[in-house]
Amino acid sequence: MENKYLQILIKISDLLEKQIDANELAEGVKQFLQEIVAVKNLYIYVFDNITNTIRNAAEGWSVIPDDSGVYKAFSDIKNEDFIINSRAYKMPAHIGDITFKLESLFIPTAKDGQDFGLIEIDFEDNTPVNTEFLFLMKILSAQISLKLQNIVLNEQSKINVDFHDSMKNIAKIIETQYELNYIVPLIGEMLDRFISDHLIYVFLKQEGEFKLVWPKACKDERIYEVLKELTPETEYILTNNDKIGAFPLISEGEITGCIVARSTLDKLSKRDISYLEQLTRQSAITISRANAYSKVLQYATLDALTNLNNRRQFETRLKQEIAITKRQNNPLCAMMIDIDFFKKVNDTYGHASGDEVLKTVASVIKAQLRESDIPARYGGEEFAVLLPYTHIDEAKIVGERLRKAVEETTVSLDNLNINVTISMGLAEFRQDESGEELFAQADKALYKAKESGRNRVVCAG
Ligand code: GH3
Ligand code: MG
Ligand code: MG
Repeated sequence: MENKYLQILIKISDLLEKQIDANELAEGVKQFLQEIVAVKNLYIYVFDNITNTIRNAAEGWSVIPDDSGVYKAFSDIKNEDFIINSRAYKMPAHIGDITFKLESLFIPTAKDGQDFGLIEIDFEDNTPVNTEFLFLMKILSAQISLKLQNIVLNEQSKINVDFHDSMKNIAKIIETQYELNYIVPLIGEMLDRFISDHLIYVFLKQEGEFKLVWPKACKDERIYEVLKELTPETEYILTNNDKIGAFPLISEGEITGCIVARSTLDKLSKRDISYLEQLTRQSAITISRANAYSKVLQYATLDALTNLNNRRQFETRLKQEIAITKRQNNPLCAMMIDIDFFKKVNDTYGHASGDEVLKTVASVIKAQLRESDIPARYGGEEFAVLLPYTHIDEAKIVGERLRKAVEETTVSLDNLNINVTISMGLAEFRQDESGEELFAQADKALYKAKESGRNRVVCAG
């Protein structure tokens, strides 16, 4: 073999020994070939027999459109060795003195003796090559095939590892969280990440009907049609040429909801289906646990995470305090608190750390208040406080002190130090209003505090 060809083989062998992805593989091979022939482009395709599509390995495994010539090349090349300028050829038996003028060249890659994919090389017009070059390409394609299988396996197992990590994470969150409003978006976001090319919808059954709980809207009527077909015996339903998949959430023999994946382009792959099955099973357990817990909670008065009053207990106390205030004509103030950019805390440090921050903020709130004040965890990262016998001027002083105390608190976890701030809205009770109206005022003030820059206290009116 010509010396320059041997040198390219050595260079490419060195490249293949490195830890590279499909993109680096295609780029690297192209660059080395350019040293000996006028190569314009080089593509590496892999046939995906789950979805019956050909994918561009170097471009994030994107699907090649049906009308592309690549499909034809893939079927033409069966039992042949090359497609040269659109015609299929067998490998010549001997190196002879034939010269080809190349525009395009397809070479198959194989796995276990079966066609696995294709390498396409486009040349500058009428690039002359000899049979020796074709021999080189034959050897190269065998090497590239092996490397490619390796890369496919690696990328697959990496996604699997990430998936199982996330599953574990969700399971952990679920052990401490029972609020569906909080859990369902987490499930939705996670599925979205792992089920590529598909939109995910989460429905929960409420009062006999499927209600969309994640994301905000679903306009595809077909999905609602599929939901009607679900029974507690359904494993899953694939429809619309396998582009829509519905996976019912089943608990104690009853449907409690449904996870739907929908795409306009791709079929659901076997892998997607397997993920969706695992996750719906996990989610169904979670949701039934959350429901059971909410029944127990009917009798509970404290929030499990922060030990402050829970929302229900707070509503009860609010009614009592309003009655007293009206009778005795005492002053009363309402305080609404929301942690600033809390989503970022979760995203940066994880939800377990987020929970620790919530606990700490709750204890700072408690420490800054009087015995007669009534603090509560109002929602996820929102707190409400009732301040009986307090005018707005005093409430403002308490509020400002509290804001500062949170700002100056560092939550130390293992080797992390997390700081957060809070925004606060305050309102004073007026004799003719209800408890709801009082908190609506405080909430509006809180909104203003957020809007005007966060980490501040704003009074209503
Ligand atoms: P803003 O300053 O506008 O309030 O920004 P934010 O990120 O705090 O607001 P947003 O309402 O978008 O996010 C609130 C986040 O709080 C979203 C949710 O994941 C998180 N969260 C709610 N409840 C809990 C909980 O119990 N534990 C943890 N770790 N996070 C929670
Ligand atoms: Mg909030
Ligand atoms: Mg917030």
